Amino acid sequence: MTDIQFLLRKNIRSLIPYSSARNEYKGSEAVFMDANESPYNDPYNRYPDPLQVQLKKRISVVKDVPSENIFLGNGSDEAIDLLIRAFCNPGTDNIIAIRPTYGMYKVCADINQVEYRESYLTREFQPDVDEMLGLADDASKLMFLCSPNNPTSNNLNRNSLLALVKNFKGLVIVDEAYADFSSAVSLSAELPLHPNLVILQTFSKAWGMAGIRLGMAFSSSQIIRVMNHIKYPYNVNILTQRTALEQLKNTEEKNKWVTLILQQRERLAAILSGMQLVQHIMPSDANFLMVKFNEPKKVFDYLISNKIIVRDRSKVPLCEGYLRITIGTSEENNMLVSALQEFEKKKNKGW
Ligand SMILES: *Cc1c(COP(=O)(O)O)cnc(C)c1O
Repeated sequence: MTDIQFLLRKNIRSLIPYSSARNEYKGSEAVFMDANESPYNDPYNRYPDPLQVQLKKRISVVKDVPSENIFLGNGSDEAIDLLIRAFCNPGTDNIIAIRPTYGMYKVCADINQVEYRESYLTREFQPDVDEMLGLADDASKLMFLCSPNNPTSNNLNRNSLLALVKNFKGLVIVDEAYADFSSAVSLSAELPLHPNLVILQTFSKAWGMAGIRLGMAFSSSQIIRVMNHIKYPYNVNILTQRTALEQLKNTEEKNKWVTLILQQRERLAAILSGMQLVQHIMPSDANFLMVKFNEPKKVFDYLISNKIIVRDRSKVPLCEGYLRITIGTSEENNMLVSALQEFEKKKNKGW
């Protein structure tokens, strides 16, 4: 087990956090003359709750994670950045991660001038546990994993993840942005057993709220406290907090969307796998398909000329030749299929 305090950067360990007006007085029915807000233009005039108490209570019920183990941020990207800033001394400490994976971990490491050590996934797109642990030294503070992984779309083995959590001396961050689409159970039930485990989830994917910017981190209360100390005091604005509270009533609708997307994922995979121009489709536990084309660049450009935008991952190591296609509505998926059929036809005619 790891002593979280020992892992922290020294300046963060001794930090006296900013105490905002809304931190010091928490009631709601009062005459507020403490924060230099305007008395006009209700409700926009008031600063938001810095610790998002109401929203966390609701998320706590939906996710079955206690409020004190929840951090909320401006997307999960905020949590990624805060963890690096709290634990990694620029220029000396390092981070270990899988490759290929979500690009933000490396960008955040680079911005914070923290060395980023990568371990290739195996041929089955699984983490090489021994290699990852072998990359670690005394300056290794964080390890980033993503399950289901972006862009490979598969679940990482639970046992591999747990072996890393148990044997790595720093924090292990498991990004579960696509958990709602996955056949695997979240690692969140493991949180009480592993104070060095951090799970990231988001409202940007299954909940359909990428535009309001709201991400979650679940972890031990020690780690959550540190993140709350170093975040911007009012990192989640009132519009986002209100909208999320409202939308969280619609878990049934969210589940319906997930079901539709999963149906469409299977349908689209079946159609695409029967097409000449498709070489392979990776098994997906997410809301996207990794599709290998004979001529990825030509397909990508042809789709753009038809105003269908997919993500070109064909130059990513281990994903050579693949385009990443997000599952749309059945109509949108049909448009994609028609465009690909059109491309195939032109190809066969030698155009
Ligand atoms: C989309 C995505 C996110 C979401 O980030 P937000 O900042 O919450 O929108 C996080 N991690 C991965 C791997 C993603 O693909």
